[in-house]
Amino acid sequence: MQVSIIGSGFAALAAVRKLRDLDLGRRLEITVISPKASLTYLPSLIWVPSGIRTGEDLRVSLERYFKEMGVHHHAGEVTSIEYKGRIVQTTHGEVYNDALIIASGASYLRKAPGIENTINPCSGISAAQAIRKRLSCMSGGTVAMGFSGNPKEAAGVRGGPMFEFLFGLHTQLKRERRRDNFKLAFVSPMRQPGKRLGTKAVKGLLKAMKKRDVETHLGHKIVSFGPDSVTTEAGSFHSDLTVFLPGMTGQPWFASTDFELSEGGFFKADGSCRVQGNAEQVWVAGDAGSMPGPLWQAKQAHMAEIQARTAATNVYRTFKGQDADATFKNELICIVDTLDSGMLVSRFPNFSLMLPPTRMMHYLKRFLEYKHLYYYR
Ligand SMILES: Cc1cc2nc3c(=O)[nH]c(=O)nc-3n(C[C@H](O)[C@H](O)[C@H](O)COP(=O)(O)OP(=O)(O)OC[C@H]3O[C@@H](n4cnc5c(N)ncnc54)[C@H](O)[C@@H]3O)c2cc1C
Repeated sequence: MQVSIIGSGFAALAAVRKLRDLDLGRRLEITVISPKASLTYLPSLIWVPSGIRTGEDLRVSLERYFKEMGVHHHAGEVTSIEYKGRIVQTTHGEVYNDALIIASGASYLRKAPGIENTINPCSGISAAQAIRKRLSCMSGGTVAMGFSGNPKEAAGVRGGPMFEFLFGLHTQLKRERRRDNFKLAFVSPMRQPGKRLGTKAVKGLLKAMKKRDVETHLGHKIVSFGPDSVTTEAGSFHSDLTVFLPGMTGQPWFASTDFELSEGGFFKADGSCRVQGNAEQVWVAGDAGSMPGPLWQAKQAHMAEIQARTAATNVYRTFKGQDADATFKNELICIVDTLDSGMLVSRFPNFSLMLPPTRMMHYLKRFLEYKHLYYYR
């Protein structure tokens, strides 16, 4: 039986691991399809502007890991999926499968006028490096940071990292003894940015901004971004460097499939990660999917891995002739890092927890990075 997995990020690698855990005899032929046999550890992008991490620190070759796991890597970008999922078209030919797990991640909306005047720090290593370069050329000025969501899908938002870039910048400038030369501003059309972390967390985040002398522009629709300005419905303000994270959506090729897409443009799936629409044995995990869940459901590496293990279990159960009835529970666990401390926020179906910032949480975040990367290296 042949299983194709699209992507080599958190969800894809968790699916590989789970399939191999279940398939002890290594009967499954697993093909991973992604542009490169490498993993980019996105959560540590927040440490690139300050120089704690370089781009190279965050890129891990997976060639050895794939060899060890008996995985074939097909280097290419997926352009479409045909025959209910059985054929994946890529920029370097087509790949046949008996079951497919889509773990390609998502993309970002770029509709706001003048968005090209901003840097999206979550788009990858080069964007985080560009922020570092721009900051090193500035002797002072205003840096505006912020994020918005996908108006069509509440889960299409990634707020946590923007708080981390903001607080990290404050700490970095203080360490460089030039914080006084900079004005920091935070902008979001949301009145309560970071709401899915919980009301208590929003209060804590806004308090942390006030403490760090960050000017806030909240609750007004963003009209446009200029080369040195941000305009909201409440007016314009000056910005020498605008770092902005738009809402999340599906990748352009998603619409070329026969699969059902959610309002926000992600692959619609049920609670067992099964893709809806004209699909058979097609599963989705991670940022690419839209699954049922609570309002605080988040697109996170942690959830991507949980969903991937669910999808892999269902693929395996189907091959065994069993019911594909594995489901997952939503969890939200994140450490909002400030370079010198971290605030733990977690939510579970019937329990939530928020701890005040401590230095230990910063080191825990570093340890989690080490653990992940060590495993794949
Ligand atoms: C700055 C930042 C900080 C974050 N911090 C945290 C955190 O602290 N904790 C946390 O849990 N989450 C965090 N996240 C979120 C987390 O990184 C994502 O939710 C997670 O990466 C999603 O995993 P994924 O496998 O679905 O997608 P990705 O990790 O994005 O992987 C997608 C994979 O698919 C490949 N791909 C893309 N397009 C194609 C295509 N057309 N064809 C084939 N392959 C393709 C990519 O090359 C990649 O290998 C953070 C994200 C960012 C950007």
